[in-house]
Amino acid sequence: MIFAAQATLFHAQASTSTSAPEKKIQLLPGLDKQLIDSSADPCVNFWQYACGNFNQLYPIPADKSGYSPGAIIGDYTQVVLHDMLNAVALPAAQHTPNEQKIGDFYASCMDEKAIDAEGLKPLQPELDRIAALTDKKGLTDLLAHDQMINVGAFLSYGEQQDFKDAQKQIAVVDQGGLGLPERDYYFRTGDAAEKTRKEYVEHIAKMLVLIGEPADKADADAQKIMTLETALAKVSLDITSMRDPNNVYHPMTVAKLAELTPEIDWPKFFADTGVPGVADLNVTNPDFFKGLQATLESTDLDTIKTYLRWQLINAVPSYALPKAMDEEDFDFFSHKLRGQPEQQARWKRCVEATDGALGEALGQVYVSSQFSAANKAYTLQMVHDIEGAMDKEIEAQTWMSTETKAKAEAKLHMVADKIGYPDHWRDYSTMKIVRGDAIGNAFRAVDFENKRELAKIGKPVDRGEWSMSPPTVNAYYNPLMNDINFPAGILQAPLYDPKASDAANYGHIGAIVGHELTHGFDDQGSQFDGKGNLDNWWTAEDRKKFNDMTDCEVKEYGNFTVDGDVKLNGKLTLGENTADNGGLRLAYVAFMEDAKRKGIDLDAKQDGFTPIQQFFLAFGQNWCGDTRPEQLRLQVQTDPHSPREFRDNGVIQNMPEFGKAFGCKAGQPMMPSNACHVW
Ligand SMILES: [Zn+2]
Repeated sequence: MIFAAQATLFHAQASTSTSAPEKKIQLLPGLDKQLIDSSADPCVNFWQYACGNFNQLYPIPADKSGYSPGAIIGDYTQVVLHDMLNAVALPAAQHTPNEQKIGDFYASCMDEKAIDAEGLKPLQPELDRIAALTDKKGLTDLLAHDQMINVGAFLSYGEQQDFKDAQKQIAVVDQGGLGLPERDYYFRTGDAAEKTRKEYVEHIAKMLVLIGEPADKADADAQKIMTLETALAKVSLDITSMRDPNNVYHPMTVAKLAELTPEIDWPKFFADTGVPGVADLNVTNPDFFKGLQATLESTDLDTIKTYLRWQLINAVPSYALPKAMDEEDFDFFSHKLRGQPEQQARWKRCVEATDGALGEALGQVYVSSQFSAANKAYTLQMVHDIEGAMDKEIEAQTWMSTETKAKAEAKLHMVADKIGYPDHWRDYSTMKIVRGDAIGNAFRAVDFENKRELAKIGKPVDRGEWSMSPPTVNAYYNPLMNDINFPAGILQAPLYDPKASDAANYGHIGAIVGHELTHGFDDQGSQFDGKGNLDNWWTAEDRKKFNDMTDCEVKEYGNFTVDGDVKLNGKLTLGENTADNGGLRLAYVAFMEDAKRKGIDLDAKQDGFTPIQQFFLAFGQNWCGDTRPEQLRLQVQTDPHSPREFRDNGVIQNMPEFGKAFGCKAGQPMMPSNACHVW
């Protein structure tokens, strides 16, 4: 229920693997010469040159929709976590309370037989609750209850930092209630889009049959659910519009919200979720709540109840559902939507589920053996170097006024650096985990998390909090916290390799650190100040120049296509593209400093490459990999991150230093005359 304009390195997607746990997974080295396709010309297609052999050496496993060096780290980490969980899942041993919890949670998830034998029994109280609804007045109780167990029927609800006063934590109600990945899925034209909608309706019908509806009624009901969701989608903002914080910030009183959606008893809704007398509230998209009222009025109670049943079974983690439902869920969401041929092994899903439910309990065990003080110190030094590079970059901008530069530097100096894991661990003592009750554990874990989030309302912000668990192979910038966060999971080879050259490490993790830092100054982050407030610190003229420069990137990336005809959305991906470009530049400037400090000879070749060539190759290899066509289509339509190929070439072609290092000629594809430069 966190609502934040958080920018990540990768799309938040399960990073899990194929091989059996006993098979040892090797991390790639910092710079992997085996991946290089020496038959390709780096000046024509650098991605092909740096990564050309990856797909043959590491084909996409059958239980994945894509593969990459980052996914290999995910696989490796998952095996490590699996070993840890197996050890603490043994009932007889001596465990700390947290070890006991993660062990019991994991063991319950792994008990497929018990889950299947229980069938729908654990869901019965929830289904009864819906069946007991006799009029729309009872909806408020049900929606409040649903929100606490992560059933997002009709809307989303939670807590956020106030955009205009980031010291304050307030309640937020947001658009929601859809089952497809994004609102445009309900309206996009063309064969692929129509096929997806048809398959979605069939999927709903099959799931309804599996909870006991007769087939012909289920078909009709699935169609009604689709109509209802389409009505909600119609009044929802698209993901590109939602990138602008001003579009999703509408503070209002509960009384005003009640005027928009009188069908819901809002004071009761908030009180039922443990937040009575809400004073500060953000209604992200008021038009949605007006539209929701119309939908609630015009939809009959039976359809609403069927929709609530669908939302319930769609929200329950599928590993905790009977086998036939689990398989049907996989078939639509993973196989049809993402092209994944096979379901992951159960242990992988259970490691992932344990990390999701008890991430900091698992993370505490993880970092104690997997993350060294030397790793933290090296990363921190690099972070400081890159912040120093950003200082220089701001200072060097000829288009920016002294006034705006001073504000930008003030913001930069306030960025909080978080590396590895939090200083204070989350307290899970009130979360109850019952061995053998997989669904119950899943519900109690999300209820715990939702209560924890909602309890923040009205309290001061905990600046030390993390929103990713330590084993996560990802990183993020949060403009409301103005912090950059690098979980221990991402600080592994090849991204950070203690055995690799500084050149390789700056190209890998340095560019990632630079990426997160640049998010503070992209189209979205640049609207927030150093304290995390949505407050315009730009002069009008500087802002206009900034927008003109980012337009260059909108056009550049908007002209890239995948799968033959699908164009990238230059506006949706703008923030990530700006961060990718700034990230490489900052890492380059920082590496030059590092080389000077350490006396690295920039002409001395190692394995045939100069340090600067190594730097660029390491960066290029961050984005090696392959993606299944279905997943690629979904990514381009929903993900603010550009596909891998363009995360390389889109950036490289804007870096004249690259062309110089590889002897490219002006006018070659990687050295065009119309290069963009924001940061
Ligand atoms: Zn990012």
